[in-house]
Amino acid sequence: MDSPRAANLASVSARPRVGVVGAGQLARMMAESAPRAGVDVVVLAESESDSAVVLGVETVLGSPRDRAALHQLAERCDVVTFDHELVDLDLLGEMEKGGTVIFPSPDALRWASDKAHQRRGLAELGLPVPRFAVVETLDQVDEALQDWPSPPVVKSARGGYDGRGVVVSSSFEEARVETLQFLRHSPVVLEERVPLLAEVAQLVARSPSGEFATYPLVTTVQVEGMCAEVLYPTPHQTSDARLLAQTIAEHIGLVGIMAVELFVTPAGLLVNEVALRPHNSGHWTIEGCRTSQFANHLRAVSAQPLGDCDAMVTAAAMVNLVGGDQPSDDDAPARHPDVAFHLYGKSWRPGRKLGHVTAVGENLDDVRARAWAAARDWGTREGVRE
Ligand code: ADP
Repeated sequence: MDSPRAANLASVSARPRVGVVGAGQLARMMAESAPRAGVDVVVLAESESDSAVVLGVETVLGSPRDRAALHQLAERCDVVTFDHELVDLDLLGEMEKGGTVIFPSPDALRWASDKAHQRRGLAELGLPVPRFAVVETLDQVDEALQDWPSPPVVKSARGGYDGRGVVVSSSFEEARVETLQFLRHSPVVLEERVPLLAEVAQLVARSPSGEFATYPLVTTVQVEGMCAEVLYPTPHQTSDARLLAQTIAEHIGLVGIMAVELFVTPAGLLVNEVALRPHNSGHWTIEGCRTSQFANHLRAVSAQPLGDCDAMVTAAAMVNLVGGDQPSDDDAPARHPDVAFHLYGKSWRPGRKLGHVTAVGENLDDVRARAWAAARDWGTREGVRE
């Protein structure tokens, strides 16, 4: 995994230049943390209205699936990384063979961009996952739907995010219809609906030399498949989550940040999903930890020593800002000086994730109340429960 070119990265360029495929809020927050990570960031953006471009970050305009645009990005940088998984892995694989340093590697990235590949890989590693079946063709559907004790969760293997591409079906007929629908674009993963006591996320970082660091475990709360809030500390136990994440990170040769989303069930932890990039469950680390997930991602991919992941606070609450029925109130941040607002520079649309707030302090109930008060005052979509 460890390429000599990567190991030499820090010495090749006095100040490493990191190219980010995608220019959404993750790229924007990477760029904001670039000075602390000692790197410069260039983004590959599809549109001049993308979140990182609006911030003024150096930009290459083009599609993440376009060969010429990717090469243009690579030529300007020492290493290429990502703010989303909707990429052409074959093309990236060719570029890697041609000498472009890409972290996480296209092989590793397949875990995050293909739920069928990921489920099979996790099961082969012997890690705990919900019961699942992969359906690739229409004639496999009826057979695959036999023998489930209850209607399964139906997931598009590729192309989904924030709950899009996931249907928690309430009847076998609904499961069948959704499976047929998703199969038009991608293989489908059918999954047992597990009894969730809670959901937690384990964030880790790994460098090309194998240096490994773990962030504190957090509770994540999803509403309609989209993360609504993230809470630190979590009452759930942490050692199993760390071990699971470390096993996955070493197996896939992770370089960068990885978030492992886990289900807490009466039978213990199950791995739900792996993301190989800074993750919504780690936004609180900007205010809450000694080194944010964004700075550590940049440090890892540019082959610099990782920063300390320890929490600097006793409690933190992050609440996503989602567009409501009315445009949001831009004056709200001024009314909540004890809460950190992060607005992503995106245009308002109901249901669109437009930013997040984080409150930190001594007491979880208090920081949670402050974060929600600020989010509501700004106008986050109601129906997001407290
Ligand atoms: P996405 O990739 O869009 O984030 P996920 O696979 O993480 O989709 O699913 C979104 C949410 O749906 C999860 O956070 C969880 O709340 C719920 N969910 C997903 N799979 C299951 C399952 N097997 N059992 C129960 N709930 C599930």
